Amino acid sequence: MKPAPFDWHAPDSVAEALALKAQHGEAARFLAGGQSLVPAMNFRVSQPAVLVDLNRVGLEAIEAGTDGSLTIGAMARYVAIERHAGAAGSHPILTEALREVAHPQIRNRGTLGGNLSHADPASEMPAVMLALNARLRLRSARGMREVAAADFFVGPLTTALAADEMLEAIHLPALPARTGTAWLEIARRRGDYAMMGVAAVISRDAAGRCIGARIACCSAGPTPMAAPLAAAALVGTMLSDADLDAAAEAVRKEVAPTGSVQASPAYQRHLAGVIAQRALLMARERAA
Ligand SMILES: Cc1cc2nc3c(=O)[nH]c(=O)nc-3n(C[C@H](O)[C@H](O)[C@H](O)COP(=O)(O)OP(=O)(O)OC[C@H]3O[C@@H](n4cnc5c(N)ncnc54)[C@H](O)[C@@H]3O)c2cc1C
Repeated sequence: MKPAPFDWHAPDSVAEALALKAQHGEAARFLAGGQSLVPAMNFRVSQPAVLVDLNRVGLEAIEAGTDGSLTIGAMARYVAIERHAGAAGSHPILTEALREVAHPQIRNRGTLGGNLSHADPASEMPAVMLALNARLRLRSARGMREVAAADFFVGPLTTALAADEMLEAIHLPALPARTGTAWLEIARRRGDYAMMGVAAVISRDAAGRCIGARIACCSAGPTPMAAPLAAAALVGTMLSDADLDAAAEAVRKEVAPTGSVQASPAYQRHLAGVIAQRALLMARERAA
């Protein structure tokens, strides 16, 4: 199939891109890496009248803060984040999870901003953003606002972005000392969307007691799904095997998978418990 006819604009600045989006509203789509938008247009699932190409506006910077935080421009390609030494040092779960996203060819073009704006609940990065407590910077010609990842994903392929807004950057706060992270997923073939994926973040105090935990899953519901009850149950424990088993069982109960061509909801729920237990074990060891 070929896409429906559309006008293409390639602005040189964010301001120009935002002016075009304000002018055309829902009729316009930003074009980032094109790895979701272009196939959707070719299938005519998406028929924007106007494309506002972001490939000349900048927004590719990945900045490691002196405090261990990381700020990633929306147009940073997956491959740039995957190979960024600062990102690997401060938030190693990014590198771990990005290796599971699609194939190298897609990671050469796909951007973090495009991926999060697409808001596929089967996608790895939205779940990782929840687990890392990311804050998303949204900009329009009207101004700028920040939204927590937890408030950004509002439904399948649906975000809190208004018709005239772009996702400009993603801010990841520093992880506390003695924090371990892990991403694990199960897919039919390497590079396929996961049947279930789990991000685990565990922080311990000097005595080994858990002082913070965050767990989030992909392919686990209509949006990336956090498991706050499971995470809260870990806090204050010494993270024994039994504590992790109980948390994994809580994750299994908290997710709300809807099934896919590859896995029934019951199988996805089973996978959530199994992978959560393994991811928590990895995060616990890495937090030591
Ligand atoms: C064969 C194949 C396999 C794949 N496998 C996986 C996988 O395993 N896991 C996975 O997570 N993904 C997978 N993907 C999707 C891939 O990750 C996409 O690159 C990503 O979802 C979209 O990023 P993009 O930069 O290409 O965005 P685009 O396709 O250009 O845009 C996606 C959407 O976001 C909007 N948009 C883009 N940038 C912005 C912005 N800055 N502000 C506001 N809106 C914006 C666009 O208008 C569009 O609606 C796969 C894709 C293919 C083709």
